[in-house]
Amino acid sequence: MGDCLIVGGGVIGLSLAYELSRRGMGVTLVEQGEWGGQASSAAAGMLAPLKEFTAPGPMLDFGMTSLAYYPQWAQELEEFTGGDVQLSLEGLLTVALDDGEQAQLAEKFRWQKDAGHSVHFLTERQQLAEVEPLLTDKAQAAIYSPYEGHINNRMLLRALVTACKLQGVVLHSGCVVSGIAVKGGKVVGVDSSLGPLRAAHTVITSGAWAGVMLDLLGVSVPVRPVRGQIAAVSSVGIPLRTVIFGTTGYVTPKKDGKIVLGATEDESGFQREVTMAGLASILNGVMPYVPALHSAAFLEAWGGLRPATADGKPLLGPVPGWEGLSIAGGHFRNGILLSPATAKWMADYLEKGEREQLAPFLPARFVTEENVSAHKMG
Ligand SMILES: Cc1cc2nc3c(=O)[nH]c(=O)nc-3n(C[C@H](O)[C@H](O)[C@H](O)COP(=O)(O)OP(=O)(O)OC[C@H]3O[C@@H](n4cnc5c(N)ncnc54)[C@H](O)[C@@H]3O)c2cc1C
Repeated sequence: MGDCLIVGGGVIGLSLAYELSRRGMGVTLVEQGEWGGQASSAAAGMLAPLKEFTAPGPMLDFGMTSLAYYPQWAQELEEFTGGDVQLSLEGLLTVALDDGEQAQLAEKFRWQKDAGHSVHFLTERQQLAEVEPLLTDKAQAAIYSPYEGHINNRMLLRALVTACKLQGVVLHSGCVVSGIAVKGGKVVGVDSSLGPLRAAHTVITSGAWAGVMLDLLGVSVPVRPVRGQIAAVSSVGIPLRTVIFGTTGYVTPKKDGKIVLGATEDESGFQREVTMAGLASILNGVMPYVPALHSAAFLEAWGGLRPATADGKPLLGPVPGWEGLSIAGGHFRNGILLSPATAKWMADYLEKGEREQLAPFLPARFVTEENVSAHKMG
């Protein structure tokens, strides 16, 4: 029986498997499809807590901590695996095109500045053009955040798989988990298409399917899929330097010759195809910010399922009432950003029982031990 069995090989499962194995634990990781083949490869790879979190609080703190982990996390992964992950923390702009948007940005800038974050409020045309020459001259103002950025999430996933292999993690892709195994009131592993898999501790990292997985035990957690449709164009002839966010879309210049354009947020169950309406809204949403995109060569569009929770915060830590079972999921729009901190904090819990950092995110806010006991009895 291994130390830890992790169910779901997206960025969260892979990062946790890597971190636990680095700490000397025996880890098995199972994935029903390809490594990172769901939300984690669909993402734009932005690392942007100051843009994403609209108020001070635990989510912003979590995001800033994870961003701060990234340079060393990425460097160690690159050195260990020999693979590039194209981390780029060279700044991003959140842009206002009219007075209403400018007032909202000014308000956001005020609390961010008061909290000591490194941000600048740009209102002069020349300042804006210096940061990004291809930004529309209709931009009225922008928050410039010089230390946020992006990573090539598909290369990150490949590096994590390699790192797990090198660390001796037992990896099973194409392995569908169909049941959670219980003995003496304790979770002892899972039943899968490869047969029974047993471990001292099981961690559910199955993204948008985390709710489906815990339903197998009669535990109800509010995780649902929120589709994101997203597209890429060629950067040939469009030397964009900076990530640009607007109210109707975002533009991310990658180091691999692509500019990633995003993204819709629509509820379609577990369907992840790209619709005509979705694609139209992405393309129409980004061109006002970078007019040069009108002539860009279209490359591809794809979709993915963000794991959303009822209160917008992830679920991290033990599942009440079920010894031997934890969850790390529900990272919604920010799982790539939050993966290093999730891996370290979950590993601190699994290795040493430390829970302080997990406190705002514990599943106990949705699942009580009493509910679980009642279900077990009845
Ligand atoms: C369009 C889009 C853009 C995004 N952009 C960003 C961004 O810029 N920055 C950012 O930080 N985040 C972004 N995100 C969010 C990010 O992608 C997610 O938060 C993150 O990938 C979640 O990771 P995960 O490992 O929990 O889920 P997933 O990557 O979905 O992995 C879960 C895995 O569990 C597996 N699984 C499910 N059920 C079973 C089963 N029964 N047996 C075995 N395996 C199973 C699935 O096959 C899947 O591979 C974006 C998401 C989308 C869709």
